[in-house]
Amino acid sequence: MRLSGKTKLMGLLGSPVSHSISPAMHNKAFEILDLDYAYLAFDIGVDDLENAVEAMKLLRVRGFNLTMPNKNLVCKYVDKLSPLSRIIGACNTVTNDDGILTGTTTDGAGYMKAAKDAGFDLTGKKMTLLGAGGAALAILAQAAFDGLSEISVFNIRDAFFEKAEKIVADLNNETKCKVNLYDLEDENVLNREITDSYILTNATSVGMAPNTDNCIIKDDSIFNSELIVSDVIYNPKETKLLKMAKNKGCRTFNGMYMLLYQGAESFKIWTGEEMPVKEIKELYF
Ligand code: NAD
Repeated sequence: MRLSGKTKLMGLLGSPVSHSISPAMHNKAFEILDLDYAYLAFDIGVDDLENAVEAMKLLRVRGFNLTMPNKNLVCKYVDKLSPLSRIIGACNTVTNDDGILTGTTTDGAGYMKAAKDAGFDLTGKKMTLLGAGGAALAILAQAAFDGLSEISVFNIRDAFFEKAEKIVADLNNETKCKVNLYDLEDENVLNREITDSYILTNATSVGMAPNTDNCIIKDDSIFNSELIVSDVIYNPKETKLLKMAKNKGCRTFNGMYMLLYQGAESFKIWTGEEMPVKEIKELYF
């Protein structure tokens, strides 16, 4: 038995959570590194979140992750926020240091690591980013802080667009990256920005199972073989967008390793150790 009287708890607060790969990933990593922690998923929605955060504190957990629908609301219940979480108003990782809760977001770092893993250094490059929802904003803020030269964000005129306006202004003030926000309906601008970019990233839910025939890009003539195309979606592993891009000779990567590396980043923050990603990849990805 790995568990002891001193085992510390970590966890995930979200709803639904029963499909989550995080418990398997973290517990296997604890086992491999012989760390005395256990990670459990708790089905908690927004109505119970405040109490759940208090309970985590009372139980002196080392840290916990947040997933849908809690990533924004949890910011109200922590003591401190990292600069990234402050700007985007969301966190997926909370660390408990002797009763002081600090929230940060590792989704964007997970994406950047996944890009590196796929062989792409995005520093100094231009990105066209589709979406301004949770995943997109995490990538946007991390990429802007990590030294991309320019990011053009496209979103439909929904509530996400309005929220993104202030975040884009903040990132233009606080980083050297030039960030633009455009209406996704404006096809000419979209085509111009993609043509001028090193990488195109879909961070919307368009193309996710079960609607796998959907794709934001309708005309594949926009893909030239120099363009890198990535998708944050991991179900299906190859979205229609990635399929179209691959057929035109583009190099692509999906959202699988973003998922892995966001977990690895949280793991590092909590334990100070590198997650043994090679073993975790072989077992779960
Ligand atoms: P969200 O609800 O916060 O954002 C949804 C985004 O999609 C918004 O920008 C919205 O405007 C856009 N959108 C929705 N319908 C659209 C349409 N018909 N046309 C154009 N745009 C549309 O969701 P989220 O949490 O950001 O998740 C988005 C996707 O990212 C999901 O598929 C999710 O599974 C994936 N995701 C992956 C990871 C990972 O680790 N790989 C992490 C988080 C999210």
